[in-house]
Amino acid sequence: VKNHIALSMLSSSENVAFARAAAASFAAQADLTLSEIDEIKVAVSEAISNAFIHGYGVDNVEQNYIELSMQLYQDKLEFIIVDYGRGIANVDEARQPSYSTDPERMGLGFAFMDSFMDKLEIVSKLGQGTTVKMTK
Ligand code: ATP
Ligand code: MG
Repeated sequence: VKNHIALSMLSSSENVAFARAAAASFAAQADLTLSEIDEIKVAVSEAISNAFIHGYGVDNVEQNYIELSMQLYQDKLEFIIVDYGRGIANVDEARQPSYSTDPERMGLGFAFMDSFMDKLEIVSKLGQGTTVKMTK
């Protein structure tokens, strides 16, 4: 590993924006184009906002933590987003474009992560939380 940063942040909308900026700043250490960095910003902020919105719930006033760890390797970048919230009942279903448990939402977060990153792995357990691992 050439570089590694681990962040633990309270679940909040401000920290979704913070994580997005942190991911862009970290990605700038790799040899990527500006549009690839933009794709990473979108993918990471979609995963963090899912943790905030679905994992814990935007109205939850408890001190819930989202973890973001970022690894820079010789030839790839890896981002891992972890929450300890509700979890996902059916990951295959949740990954489908336009699938959302919230009728107000587009259901495109996982579709963006899938198309903007080279690899997307989701591990989730109901009532225990969700881990999203992406590489580019
Ligand atoms: P959008 O991302 O377009 O605003 P969305 O968040 O509903 O809409 P996805 O990001 O693709 O769409 O997520 C699909 C569904 O997977 C969500 O509706 C939610 O039910 C579930 N989900 C995603 N991430 C989590 C998470 N961290 N914890 C619990 N459920 C999640
Ligand atoms: Mg989403």
